[in-house]
Amino acid sequence: MRRNIVAGNWKMNKTLEEGLKLIEDINLNIKKIDAKNVQIIVATPFIHLAKAVEKAVSPVRISAQNCASEEKGAYTGEVSAEMLRSTGVEFVILGHSERRAYYGETDEVLAKKVDLALAYKLQPIFCIGEVLEERKAKKHFEVVKKQIENGLFHLSEKDFSKIIIAYEPVWAIGTGETATPEQAQEIHHYIRKVVADKYNDEIADNLSILYGGSMKPSNAKELVAQPDVDGGLIGGASLDADDFCRIIEAF
Ligand code: PEP
Repeated sequence: MRRNIVAGNWKMNKTLEEGLKLIEDINLNIKKIDAKNVQIIVATPFIHLAKAVEKAVSPVRISAQNCASEEKGAYTGEVSAEMLRSTGVEFVILGHSERRAYYGETDEVLAKKVDLALAYKLQPIFCIGEVLEERKAKKHFEVVKKQIENGLFHLSEKDFSKIIIAYEPVWAIGTGETATPEQAQEIHHYIRKVVADKYNDEIADNLSILYGGSMKPSNAKELVAQPDVDGGLIGGASLDADDFCRIIEAF
């Protein structure tokens, strides 16, 4: 089912103590607002996950930010999808542009991660998006189409229907620069069409497509007002409980 989703991505921020305090603050703030029609997800660093799952009060749910591309074994420093699931986590961000750029994650590796996540009942939040040069060269449609095809289109209809897509133009992440509502709508609509062409209209209609890239309380309302923008993946503004909850209020 298509849902409105606000997902916070803490990246490599917050000690364990600070993180658990932030979850408590989010729990408290959410009680004061009307969040009935929004799914709220918080993606913490690995070390917070098990405790964050215990601390989070419904409707707040917890996500990981990555998982290993192998199932188990001699992969020092990696964390498997099965381990994540054992903490009670329900979601995992895959293919964030920082992972693609700094850790060389390719579409092929991401396709393996998607399969493992689904095998262990984690819902992938699959990130796609173009860099500035690609946008300037008007290649953004082509770029996101390839990322979706290579990372996701091997999935059956049933498995694809568990995917959440986050469109995050790389030039807007952590830069203060945001896509205009029109730019976001244009490409989200295109993404839905690409999915409809591959699968069918029902699957495309039910897909939640989030926008990510310097979303904050001051711009969230006009972004989520777009018909094909179903929510946000929020970096910087998710580190503050007030800002995060004010974004949720944008719905
Ligand atoms: C992100 O990293 O997913 C993101 C959207 O970051 P920010 O909101 O800080 O641009």
